Order: sequence, then structure tokens, then C-alpha cells
Amino acid sequence: MFKDTYDVIVVGAGHAGSEAAAAAANMGSSTLLVTMNLQNIAQMSCNPAMGGIAKGQILREIDALGGYSGLVSDTSAIQFKMLNKSKGPAMWSPRVQSDRMLFSQHWRERLEQTENLDFYQEMVSGLIIEKNKVKGVKTSLGLEIKAKTIILTNGTFLNGLIHIGDKNFGGGRAGEKASFGITKELEDIGFEAGRMKTGTPPRVDGRSLDFSKMIEQPGDEEPWKFSYSNETKPLEKQRSCWMSYTSPEVHNILKEGFDRSPMFNGSIKSTGPRYCPSIEDKIHRFADKDRHQMFVEPEGWNTVEYYVNGFSTSLPEDIQFKALKQCAGFENVKFFRPGYAIEYDYFPPTQLRHTLETKLVDGLYFAGQINGTTGYEEAASQGLIAGINAALKVQEKDEFTLSRSEAYIGVLIDDLITKGTEEPYRMFTSRAEYRTLLRQDNADFRLTAKGFEIGLACKERMKLMKEKQRKSDAFVDFFKNQSVTTDEINPILEEKNSAKVDQQGKLFKIFARPNITMQDMRKLESVENFINEHNVNNEVLEQVEVQVKYAGYIEKEKLNADKLNRLENVRIPEHFDYSLLKSMSFEAREKLTKIKPRTVSQASRVSGVNPSDVSVLLVHMGR
Ligand code: FAD
Repeated sequence: MFKDTYDVIVVGAGHAGSEAAAAAANMGSSTLLVTMNLQNIAQMSCNPAMGGIAKGQILREIDALGGYSGLVSDTSAIQFKMLNKSKGPAMWSPRVQSDRMLFSQHWRERLEQTENLDFYQEMVSGLIIEKNKVKGVKTSLGLEIKAKTIILTNGTFLNGLIHIGDKNFGGGRAGEKASFGITKELEDIGFEAGRMKTGTPPRVDGRSLDFSKMIEQPGDEEPWKFSYSNETKPLEKQRSCWMSYTSPEVHNILKEGFDRSPMFNGSIKSTGPRYCPSIEDKIHRFADKDRHQMFVEPEGWNTVEYYVNGFSTSLPEDIQFKALKQCAGFENVKFFRPGYAIEYDYFPPTQLRHTLETKLVDGLYFAGQINGTTGYEEAASQGLIAGINAALKVQEKDEFTLSRSEAYIGVLIDDLITKGTEEPYRMFTSRAEYRTLLRQDNADFRLTAKGFEIGLACKERMKLMKEKQRKSDAFVDFFKNQSVTTDEINPILEEKNSAKVDQQGKLFKIFARPNITMQDMRKLESVENFINEHNVNNEVLEQVEVQVKYAGYIEKEKLNADKLNRLENVRIPEHFDYSLLKSMSFEAREKLTKIKPRTVSQASRVSGVNPSDVSVLLVHMGR
């Protein structure tokens, strides 16, 4: 029924598990994906959307490395928006509204077409571990399946407990069983586990809503897409979302249910996502605000179901219903399902290495919500890194990690394993110190060659990336070398209220002015000729505009990143004895012994480690 020994077994087919399985199998590892329900592959547990601020960048990175999430997001999208377009390009973040059912279906189709990948529907109830080395998994029906490496991606399912008002029951997600056994087993061999919670809003029947009372939120007029490959196309038609608001009346009704709320009556003790608070949390914490925004989002092309973004709640159903009915456009609302909260086990991620392998058990990897993160993109990117590293380990090749200056994925994993997290961790642009380098438009330049080198990104992706690079470089050179006369440029500058020039000069300097755009440049014949002669597409236009306008910032960040990389190169032996460093503070010695940083740079980011402790370490390392 199964192979004698798999190279990789992935437990769970959520966003992390699906990417992990795809990566390991595509890199040539015999892989088994065991999951509790094969109908729910890459199920979107909460909002039907991919990308968004910082998350869009992660998705582009996954795609650039050769993962599937970007491709699936494109083919299942119903609306595209580039968020933060009014801010600098470091902040631009692509987001799609997704067809929930298509998303899951397209993931399954891609996985089924992936060589080296077997599937099995079962609950994994335990692991086979011998002498701190993983050997396989045990299932709830008593099967034992052997593997050289295991990736756990159990999401919100480990001892999952669902709350709606004062009712609670076991479950991993609405309508699905929780998973038992793994946490206890891992705790028994020395792992630390904790509890977190998250919540989701009600889903409603679009036929019962009055959209004329809401504000339409259409997609971009010129939609783009996630994947750098030519396999997918931008959307030709889109569905709109809608915006409505809560009101003081709505808040008063919600407050009536507080004494039956698991959040306020003490039945939920774990920490929830700070940046995705429930509606009861919002009216409690921001008592002075008399309204909160809600986005009413279609769940797909061919369904009347809508997701009420911003109204996440675990209050009793009757209160949810009564309160929502007071919102504009919801007067006759009918529910498809109520909102709920869920508590689940996670493993503090400081127990992991940069590869997401556990420090305690050789060959055992954790990825996704099990590591205390929240969000599909955060989960998928960890799955990708765990899948890659499990495959590389089996092939006895060097590990694959990304630094903080190379990718948001690098920032995410470094934050998790170095600092840990006490509340569900989600990515923000502010977490990245080199965000001008880590843009959504250049993830292919940063990562595709790396993905290709390890055998994940295909030749076609590499070819496309090189072509884009060649054209971008040539176009930037054109701006650096092309002169423009005063007669040609001054009318354009005048139109933009930008100071006129009194002599011929290079285009680059003018284009670098803050209020001059590519659109303005394209009014020049020489620029338009270059674009036509060299077949310059929108992606290159966008890339070059950023490179010219932000040249100064980019250069500065590169210099800072180089400095950091110098510390990144000072490696610390894995079993280094910090008790030898008597001049280091006691707290730093204790924390560093626990975290076991691999480099002095990582050590400097551990909380409780001060610059003076870093100096002691550097001196000891002979620097
Ligand atoms: P999941 O998507 O949970 O997938 C886990 C998979 O593992 C499932 O397929 C499950 O069947 C399988 N599995 C579990 N245990 C076993 C086992 N023992 N054996 C076999 N298979 C197993 N994110 C946000 O960003 N914002 C939000 O507001 C938000 N709200 C949420 C609300 C709810 C109610 C839930 C459930 C999740 C919410 N999330 C939210 C989180 C988001 O859904 C997750 O971050 C993301 O899905 C995690 O992906 P994952 O792959 O780690 O796990």
C-alpha cells in the first residue's frame, strides 16, 4: 500500500503542507501527503483572499522560488488589487479575492499532477522516533508508515476547541474533527507546547443583502497577477466587494452578549491575533470609536455566499445575528454559518533551526500555524522552506535558508526562531529592515536563481527572469545615457509643476524627481521608441521606474545589508558553551544557550542580548 520508506512524509494538507509536499516531490523526494480530509486540500479556513500588505510580497517570493501558491491564487482569483499604490513601491502589495472552492480544487489538481507524490486520507496520531531521530508516523487506525523525514503542518487542529458563545466543542475547523495525540507525545520527549486562538466572522447569503446601501469596492482597472511565469494571465473580468459599517446600535447589541462571550467570561485563556481582532475585541479596546469598517466579500464566481470581513466573532449566534441586522444593507440578512473562535496547540518556534527542522529530533520539521503564525501566506512559505530542506537533507545536500535581506520569508523564519512569538505572528512590512530591497516587483531577481539551483524553479522561469533582468538593465542604462533637450523636457516639467531645466541633461536625473512618472517619460519620443523597439512590457516598466526613482534608498539599504551579512558570516559552533563567556551578562548566556543562534548576527537579535554581549562574542570568535 505504501512505499517501504518515504523520503518525506507531510502531515496535513493545509497551505503549509501543500507547499511542503509539492516542493519535496518536485525536488525528487518520494513524498507522502497524509491528511485528515482530502476534499479540503489547502482549504481557506478564514477569508477567501490571498496576498495583501507584506503577505503579497511573500506570495511573490514563493512563486519566484518555484512554489505553487502564486499560480493557484491567479487561477482562482475573482478580483485583483494592488494595495498601497499611493505609497512608495516598497509598500505596494498585491492582493486577490479568491474563489474559495476553486482555490482548493486547483491546489488538488496541481498536487495530483506532481510526480513522486502519494496521498493518504487518515489522522496521524503519533510519531515513531528512535534515539532522537524520526522514523515514521502512526495513524489513528494503527498503521505505521516509515519515512526519513517528517513535516508536521497540523494548523489549528491539535486539540482544537471551537467556541460559539457559551458553547464549545472539539474541532479543527468548523465541521472538521480535531487531532489528538501528537502534542502529548512531543511534550513527553521534551518539546514545549502552548495554546493560541483565532476567530472567523459569519458567512451570509448575498441574496438577503441590499448592496445599494453599501459602498462598492471594485478591483483594479488594470489587474495584474502573482505568478512571474507565463502560465497564468491577469483577470479579464472581476467581482466587486462591498463596504459597510457597524454603528453604536450594533455595538450595544454586541455588548449584550459579553457575559456569554468566551473572550470575556474566561473560557478562552489563550492569546489571539492582535492585528485581526474580533468585533467584540474592537469595541472593547477602542470604546471611543462609534463605527468599524466591514468588507463584504464574495466567496467565489458562482456562489451567493459572502464573507463579512471585520466582523470576526465568537459571541452567541443570536447576538451575532441581531447585531449584524443593524448594519446598513444587512437588514434582512440570512446566515450561512455563524462566526466562531478556535483554540489550538502550537509549539514555540524557538525550538527550530532556520531550516524549520526541530533542534530536538533529527529529521522532524514543523511548518505553518503549528509554529504560532497566522495566515495562509505565512504558512505556505514555511511549508515551502521545510519541504525544500527535508528533500535536501535526504539528498545529503547543504541546507537552504534565506537571510533577512533576501526575502520576507527570511525575516519571518528568523523572527520566529530567534525571538519566538507569544501571540499569533503575522507578517508586516515594518518587520523587515530592508523593505526597499524586498519588493513585490523583484522577488524573481532575488530568488529565482536560488530556486533553480536547488532544482525547484524550472528552466522556463529562469529564462523569463533573465530576460526581464536584461531588459530592465538595458532600459536603466538608456535613462542614464540618453540626453534630452530643454525644448523636449520643459513642457513636460511645466505640466507637472516641476522646475524647468536650462540646459540639455541626462534623462535619469529628471526621471528621479519625485513627481515625475514613467507616464511623463513616455511623452518623449526617444523613450517610447526604446519601449517599442525592445518590446518592453509592463513588468519591466514598473521595475525600471522603481530602480530609477529609488536608486538612492536601494543603494543605502544594500550597504546596510552588506554590513549585516558580515556578521552573518561569523558562525557560532552549534554546541558552543556560553558559560565560558564570563563577561557576558547572565541573561544573554541563558537565552543564547536556549536559542543556539548559528551566527553572531542572529545572536544580536535574540531578546535580552545587548550590544556589549555581542562585542564579547565577537572578541571570542576572534573578530
Ligand atoms: P491549516 O490550514 O489549518 O491546515 C492543517 C491541515 O492539517 C488540515 O488539512 C488538517 O486536516 C490537517 N491535519 C491536522 N492534523 C492532522 C493529523 N493529525 N493528521 C492528518 N492531517 C492533519 N488567518 C489569518 O491570517 N487571519 C485570520 O483572521 C484568520 N482567522 C482564522 C480563523 C479560523 C477559525 C481558522 C481555523 C483559521 C484562521 N486563520 C486566519 C488562519 C489560517 O487559516 C491559517 O493560518 C492557515 O490556514 C494555516 O495553514 P496551515 O497549513 O498551517 O494549517
